[in-house]
Amino acid sequence: MSAKLLEGKFFAAALKEEAGKKAEEIRNKYGVNPGLAVIIVGENPASQVYVRNKHKGCTELGFYSEGVEMPETTTREELLAEIHRLNNDPKIHGILVQLPLPKALQPYESEVLEAIDPLKDVDGFHPVNVGRLVTGQKALIPCTPHGCIRMLELAGIPIEGKHAVVIGRSNIVGKPMLHLLLSRNATVTICHSRTANLAEITKQADILVAAVGKPRFVTPDMVKPGAAVIDVGINRIPHPEDSTRTKLVGDVDFEAVKEVAGAITPVPGGVGLLTIAMLMQNTVIAAELQLAK
Ligand code: NDP
Repeated sequence: MSAKLLEGKFFAAALKEEAGKKAEEIRNKYGVNPGLAVIIVGENPASQVYVRNKHKGCTELGFYSEGVEMPETTTREELLAEIHRLNNDPKIHGILVQLPLPKALQPYESEVLEAIDPLKDVDGFHPVNVGRLVTGQKALIPCTPHGCIRMLELAGIPIEGKHAVVIGRSNIVGKPMLHLLLSRNATVTICHSRTANLAEITKQADILVAAVGKPRFVTPDMVKPGAAVIDVGINRIPHPEDSTRTKLVGDVDFEAVKEVAGAITPVPGGVGLLTIAMLMQNTVIAAELQLAK
């Protein structure tokens, strides 16, 4: 293997420690403990695992944490009322609605996310925070792309003046990644499903971010030798040795690309671990913003 392995656990530990220190400062200054509420509607098993991990993250750092479990049959009005209650609860500084919502509520997803007080929007999906990120103001920033940027910085991988290529233009990963890289003075190209000659573009990247949602999509012929390759993808494929199980793989063909790249994140064990650490950071930032008001 030629590439340096960027293991999420080391960076996640550093980012959690940072959040823990900032939380201590808040407790000392305001006598208040940062608090996070996570709303989950319905019984999606993957979402339940994510919510449990978020609660665990809070417990580790001594945050106040509230899990709000609502049934599959929850109406738009009931969900909005719960968000309204949490918006007005001074113990809660961060509110997160776990996505995806059950089918019946999906048409209201934008309305639901916009009902969250922008100062408590720890997912960074509210248009106010999106606008603040784009215009370079202090914002609550989506956890996954922010975690990627912090990892690059902590790993000492230069961003300024480099050519960064992002594959994927979702509101959750690709677009915020574009703005975060721009704010660090990278030259950024964003690619998507209609991009022509994708490999020619990705081969120019000093930093290549894959957020496609397609298993092992990025192959060695798409990677510039020595590039830093950040794999955001989380894909389940049939397990090669056991038909009763599945296997987690990223959007990058890790085994082959690690022979070409200069640095690479594994899946599992890479970017995924940073998301919760960044959620803890956002909860602290949200608490600071509210208490300073
Ligand atoms: P989306 O499905 O919302 O976006 C995928 C993007 O990939 C789209 O912009 C799409 O283009 C683009 N794309 C699809 N096919 C191609 C192709 N053949 N060539 C080039 N671009 C293509 O996914 P997300 O951004 O939400 O997530 C991406 C991945 O990251 C998923 O695997 C997801 O599970 C994972 N993820 C991981 C997180 C973590 O914590 N680690 C958090 C969030 C996501 P177009 O816009 O044209 O359709």
